Amino acid sequence: MKVLKFGGTSVGSSERIKNVASLIAGRGKNIIVLSAMAGTTNTLVEISNYLYKKNVDGAKETINILERKYFQTIAELYDDDNLRGEAEREIKACFNYIRSMTKDIFTSFEEKEILAQGEIMSTVMMNLYLHGKGVKSALIPALEFMRTDKNGEPDTQYIKQRLNNLLDKHPEADLYITQGYICRNAYGEIDNLQRGGSDYSASLVGAAVGAEEIEIWTDIDGMHNNDPRYVDGTKPVERLNFEEAAELAYFGAKILHPMCVQPAKYANIPVRLLNTLDPSAKGTLIGNDTDNRGIKAIAAKDNIIAIRIKSGRMLLAYGFLRKVFETFEAHKTAIDMVATSEVGISLTIDSDKSLEPILEDLRKFGTVTVDKDMVIICVVGSFDWQNCGLESDVIAALKDIPVRMICYGGSDHNISFLVRKEDKVKALNMLSKNLFS
Ligand code: ADP
Ligand code: ASP
Ligand code: MG
Repeated sequence: MKVLKFGGTSVGSSERIKNVASLIAGRGKNIIVLSAMAGTTNTLVEISNYLYKKNVDGAKETINILERKYFQTIAELYDDDNLRGEAEREIKACFNYIRSMTKDIFTSFEEKEILAQGEIMSTVMMNLYLHGKGVKSALIPALEFMRTDKNGEPDTQYIKQRLNNLLDKHPEADLYITQGYICRNAYGEIDNLQRGGSDYSASLVGAAVGAEEIEIWTDIDGMHNNDPRYVDGTKPVERLNFEEAAELAYFGAKILHPMCVQPAKYANIPVRLLNTLDPSAKGTLIGNDTDNRGIKAIAAKDNIIAIRIKSGRMLLAYGFLRKVFETFEAHKTAIDMVATSEVGISLTIDSDKSLEPILEDLRKFGTVTVDKDMVIICVVGSFDWQNCGLESDVIAALKDIPVRMICYGGSDHNISFLVRKEDKVKALNMLSKNLFS
């Protein structure tokens, strides 16, 4: 059994839905994980923002526009009147549910219920379309098996047990369809795995059923060696190991959700990145193999804040680093990069949620300075420290760019730089030019 995940663009129109149906039918009893149609989650966020601001008219108008788009898709999708009628009824029910949220107080609970409708609608439409094509697909609701615990982490035991029970209830099915992104939290409320989280869903589902492979189908032929949104002439990377893929995903390669690699890696399930627009392209295979092939790819992570704590007391003072790190732990804030010197420490965070209280606490230990609007540029490859010259090639490529921090040696797979937001595109292009051409 394989898990095949199709992203928003892949199900973004009636044509694309038909195309995905032809890719998944007749390939065996696989589990298909779908995202919402492209643009839907953004529109649902927009609707929620209107409701937070109590602009009910704005919300209703946006709901009506989105609903018309879905009815247009349904009109194009089904030849059979019964199926079309059923799709219209089910999609109408989702929109009425969204409309019911415009009446009372609006909180993040209602927002999450609204956001869940996108994935629910794309799976309903795909399931009915497959039925029309004679494929006996079974809809497995993610809200009945995908659950997070009190720490917001996936409850893997529960997911495994519930999902396998649900699959067993459909012995007749040709394939299974489920929603990415959406889940319930430890209290049974509707929740989600954060934006772009359908990839994470696919990986969790793959691990839960011990899948042979997880395929992530999107709108590009695999992980490219640099961000194609900012660099021309990027090329797909044929193979990555789990660590390399995890670094790239975490440091900004949007093709994969940052958490997606972890469950597949622990369950040792290969992940293949494929292109719905060009299904015969090789894509990228992510697995356990390690090949010493130099530099593989570059990614960039935006909205980084750098904090430097300088203290004369750090000199020979054991316990200083612990106190600094405990400050971040106390404020539940993850640190990305760290660099130390004799008199200070620089580190980066990607959220300003608790910035002020963190800074207040850090000032007890020394002088604190902050640089906002920074970007981490992460170069991934075989950076085993005994390979000579790779790091100097990378540093040479950035010779015209002011670099605030460098991290090297934390793993064998990357070297990272912190640069200003305005230097990001230049840095990515200089690296591609110097390392790949
Ligand atoms: P989906 O909706 O299918 O999940 P995403 O938009 O989340 O698709 O991810 C695919 C997009 O990721 C591509 O269209 C591309 O613009 C972007 N992307 C960023 N970095 C990379 C990279 N290194 N390789 C491939 N795609 C990348
Ligand atoms: N639909 C969700 C989003 O747009 C989840 C996903 O696409 O992976 O973020
Ligand atoms: Mg995505």
